[in-house]
Amino acid sequence: MSSRNRVIAGVIIGLAALCLCLVAVGTGAAAFLYLRANRATTDRISDVPADPAQVSAQMDTIAQEVIVMRGLQPAGEVERKLLTEEEVRQRTLDDFNEDTTPEEWADSERTLAVLGLLPSNYDLYDILLRLYSEGVAGFYDPDTKELVVVSEEGGLNAYEKVTFAHEYNHALQDQNYDVRGMGFSEEGWDTDSERAAAAQALLEGDSTLLEEQYQDTLSAAEKRDYDQIVNGFDVSIYGELPRYLLLDFIFPYDQGLTFVRRYYDEGGWTRVGEVWKNPPVSTEQILHPERYETGDLPILVERPALTDTLGTGWRQMESNVMGEWYTYLILAYGDQEGARLSDRTASRAAEGWGGDGYVAFYNEAEDETVLALHWIWDTQADADEFAEAFRDYGDRRFGESESITHGVCWSADQLNCFYTNGQHTLWVMAPNQKTVDAVLALQPDF
Ligand SMILES: [Zn+2]
Repeated sequence: MSSRNRVIAGVIIGLAALCLCLVAVGTGAAAFLYLRANRATTDRISDVPADPAQVSAQMDTIAQEVIVMRGLQPAGEVERKLLTEEEVRQRTLDDFNEDTTPEEWADSERTLAVLGLLPSNYDLYDILLRLYSEGVAGFYDPDTKELVVVSEEGGLNAYEKVTFAHEYNHALQDQNYDVRGMGFSEEGWDTDSERAAAAQALLEGDSTLLEEQYQDTLSAAEKRDYDQIVNGFDVSIYGELPRYLLLDFIFPYDQGLTFVRRYYDEGGWTRVGEVWKNPPVSTEQILHPERYETGDLPILVERPALTDTLGTGWRQMESNVMGEWYTYLILAYGDQEGARLSDRTASRAAEGWGGDGYVAFYNEAEDETVLALHWIWDTQADADEFAEAFRDYGDRRFGESESITHGVCWSADQLNCFYTNGQHTLWVMAPNQKTVDAVLALQPDF
């Protein structure tokens, strides 16, 4: 189910509600990810049954196997479909256009550029459209209860069987657990993307583990077919993604799988079922299951209400939670290579995340943007460690800095200021000092 699409999310949106089955990127080691692309380059298996009745029977068999393997009973209808890549592309296009206005796309692009994750004027719409049509092997849509497997030939080869198993498991999740109640919905992404991302990691981690187990039941001949198909995939779309986007796309399948496997290893699917009843609520909990186990809940951080302060001409583009995962991505995988901290420094700096809240505003007439991002850290030491890393990041990204009371500012073409106070840190980006001061004046913690 889905690729994430979080942040900033307004974007992705429509698809946020879907559960995609990705395909594998990367190489060998990441064999659990089945990213698929460009089937035209794939060697086809000749003995695929194309008779609809036969395909339907084949799907029934796989569904039954998944029911037994996962230990969940079906509780509703699922509409099963095989679509070609072109049909999936058209459907993605329709979803994008239906769920997201051009203004929302532009807002997401602008916000991601401010965060340093995308270059300015990056065409997110185009790359995501391609990613969702070329990079997806199937999906389950909990809104329409449709299960789609991408297939050019109208039958199920070994790879498509595995995809069907993965997606059918999503249908069982949807029928047995309150996926929407866990925050995995369009509205959930818009209001608390951390909670939605954690739910997504559970959904995908669960289905990816199930898929792995189903794959083990394939015959030797099917396994050979499977490998041959996967090796034939053209995954060049993944190479074209901005680095952070690729990592974020994979997060639920990779870190989500590691998270779910930990509980499966403890007590099988029964233990995983307990996790579903007490689901993780942040990327911090996915990244550090011990924090999930001890109940380290995100601190709710008030998002600055800037509407009155900024005045006419300004409107809010985004208001959400960045989370440990995105904090790490900003520090280590931004668009500007020279601004990137090492993976190790960034992950250490982001650890100890307590909670955060951010808003981004835009002034159309002036083409100006304001960002205010307030983090609270678990301890003073965590805040200090993050502050040191952020200052380094700022120097690399914005150039020379100037010390101010409780912080530091960089005046490149925009003014960026970073403040610290105890366990609090604040990043404000604005066109000028007056606006930075006005935003700061609204922050009782600084
Ligand atoms: Zn999935």
